[in-house]
Amino acid sequence: MISINSKLPNVGTSLFTVMSALATEHKAINLGQGFPDFPMDQILAELARKAIADGHNQYAPMAGYMPLREAISQKVESLYQNKISANDNITITPGGGYAICTAFTTILDPGDEVIVFEPAFDSYIPNIVSCGAIPVILQLEYPSYRIDWDKLKSAITPKTRAIIINSPHNPTGTVMSDEEMLTLQDILHNTKIFLISDEVYEHLTYDGLQHNSALKYPELFERSFVCFSFGKVYNCTGWKLGYCIAPKALTAEFRKIHQYNAFCCFTPSQVALAEHIKHPHSYLQLKDFMQKKRDLFVKLMSNTGFDLLSANGGYFISASYEKISNMGGLDLAMHLTKTVGVATIPYSTFYSKGEDHKILRFCFAKKEESLIEAAKRLDQIQMNKL
Ligand code: PMP
Repeated sequence: MISINSKLPNVGTSLFTVMSALATEHKAINLGQGFPDFPMDQILAELARKAIADGHNQYAPMAGYMPLREAISQKVESLYQNKISANDNITITPGGGYAICTAFTTILDPGDEVIVFEPAFDSYIPNIVSCGAIPVILQLEYPSYRIDWDKLKSAITPKTRAIIINSPHNPTGTVMSDEEMLTLQDILHNTKIFLISDEVYEHLTYDGLQHNSALKYPELFERSFVCFSFGKVYNCTGWKLGYCIAPKALTAEFRKIHQYNAFCCFTPSQVALAEHIKHPHSYLQLKDFMQKKRDLFVKLMSNTGFDLLSANGGYFISASYEKISNMGGLDLAMHLTKTVGVATIPYSTFYSKGEDHKILRFCFAKKEESLIEAAKRLDQIQMNKL
């Protein structure tokens, strides 16, 4: 019998997939997986239809459709005051997750260490492990979930090859401040450590906070792969289109991996986006649109037994269910999906050792009706009865 020496022996099907399937089976409202249940940007959809009709249906250039890269470089200059080159610094990728994975593949050798903060988006650690590298895990402590800089300094060793950060953060909704980015820049000064900055929620900052991209800090950018997703900006996560911005030499190596992997991305969506992102309103209005949803969900949930944590960015808000149940997070999430009709994601999913702090994550990037109906169902749960 031929057998595989698994690169990921401890990994099964991701809980996002499991919970979405369970939600469909039980006709539950899916506040689990992070995707909108409302239509995508309709102007963009029309532009994509037009791109197909106009015959943009063959391979795009390996690094991405040039007018799209040019539009991104203009956007980056106006938002983050960084003059990047469309030619040398931007690579269009099949999603933000692929950009992150390719960045890891580009830089990691077996035995390298990568610092990861938990709770963490679920792909980071498997990406690192499949390169033969070693994740070094630091905790973002409840309830602020901010980086402890002293712990970061003491975790750095001669083997540290990279650090991955994510702001706005999934699942906690924290947004890194200017001061924090400067502290990170200082800590990495004079080291050979790369930074992977996951910024897929760049336009989703609330309460007057701004997004502090690694692109804004010249010394940080020198060592960075900054990863973005169009899916999260235009509510079309199924397009799986994103991009990576990195200095020229890093981009050259990144493209060596990308060209033999995906090679290039779906052309019509790139042609459509090249036109659409020239209009800043298309992405600048997003934060108000999504903040209204967060605020509505917070208000609706205030009557329930869940204690919501704060979330200043991203698609998600989290809640402690301590007053409601003694169940483990996974069991409760399954139970709520099957019997109450609301799917969520337990925080244990975001910890490599499955720590359970009795917290569930809710995605509020959903229709108003979905949020209202979900909160109504959750409000019927009696305290300590589950
Ligand atoms: N990073 C984070 C933090 C995410 O939440 C997601 C999507 N849920 C991704 C990366 C992946 O983005 P994409 O779908 O564009 O690959």
